[in-house]
Amino acid sequence: MLLSLLLGLIGGVASAGDVVIDFLDVGQGDSTLIRGGGKAVLIDAGIADARVAGQLKSLGVRQLDLVVATHAHADHIGGMADVLGLLDVKLYVDSGLSHETRAYDRTMEQVEAKHIKHLRARTDMTLRMGDEAILHVLWPGETYLKDTRSDLNSNSVVIWLEHGEIDALFTGDAEEPTEHALLRGKLPEVEVLKVAHHGSAHSSTPAFLARTSPEIAVISCGKDNRYGHPDAGTVKRLASHGAMVFRTDLSGQVRVISNGSEVEVMEGDLSLFRTAPSAVATQDDKPMLAAQAPQPAPSKPEPTTTEAPEDVASWLSGVRPSTGVPEEDTGKKKKKKKRTKP
Ligand SMILES: [Zn+2]
Repeated sequence: MLLSLLLGLIGGVASAGDVVIDFLDVGQGDSTLIRGGGKAVLIDAGIADARVAGQLKSLGVRQLDLVVATHAHADHIGGMADVLGLLDVKLYVDSGLSHETRAYDRTMEQVEAKHIKHLRARTDMTLRMGDEAILHVLWPGETYLKDTRSDLNSNSVVIWLEHGEIDALFTGDAEEPTEHALLRGKLPEVEVLKVAHHGSAHSSTPAFLARTSPEIAVISCGKDNRYGHPDAGTVKRLASHGAMVFRTDLSGQVRVISNGSEVEVMEGDLSLFRTAPSAVATQDDKPMLAAQAPQPAPSKPEPTTTEAPEDVASWLSGVRPSTGVPEEDTGKKKKKKKRTKP
């Protein structure tokens, strides 16, 4: 009953004010596209073989206002050099930790060759997606976690997307030490969680899940991957904390549409969706980087009116809409979840 009621409200069609989150099918890796407020944001670019640049183009994306590399492992930046090289990218943000790999070197070569603005993510960073949504960097902080099982993973860029009453958390490959650190800050309760580290046993601790209380949990991993992701215990733990679990190895692409008070989830072959401009992609020339000045630990903020530093503002000026959004609901399956957060 609830599902059909919600169908009438959203009906699989993104409209003005919506934010569309696509968890791309990239095999054993991560790549998430977020569109809304006239902006397009990519978090990670999967393994090279996933051809994320091509996937973005087939979704109608030619320009990315922001690209985030959560950390420098090849399952997150394997396709990054192609994305930076083949699309128009306005701002590149990473954890600031380098890695001695060809994938990392190629990525940095493209950042330099295309003169892409490059910033190190920090907890004082807030980025606006037009008037619709705000991205808050929750990790890394001023100092990095050290001597962990994987310092690259543990210092993954963690991003909180705030869209009206809907909150989503993108965790890269953050592990238990990161979760422990986040729990000391103002970690929000969320409707949507990109599960950390492909659902491994090293993340998604009970304390973290109790605090974030995700309703929809998306695990990005490859079929029969050699790491055994996701861990069966982790999947069970997510479910026991009330999350509906979606997996890209089972579903292919997973799409979440938020209207700011409710979310709709679709899974499967979404290539049948027409990608045409809509109100979601209405032009927004405002700079994304709303505030760089040091702030207290991120809390549920009032929309900030702080303008970006002049160089970033001018650098980001002239941003054009670059996104397409689904007009038809022809996905294989759909599920919906109503926000129940008090
Ligand atoms: Zn990974």
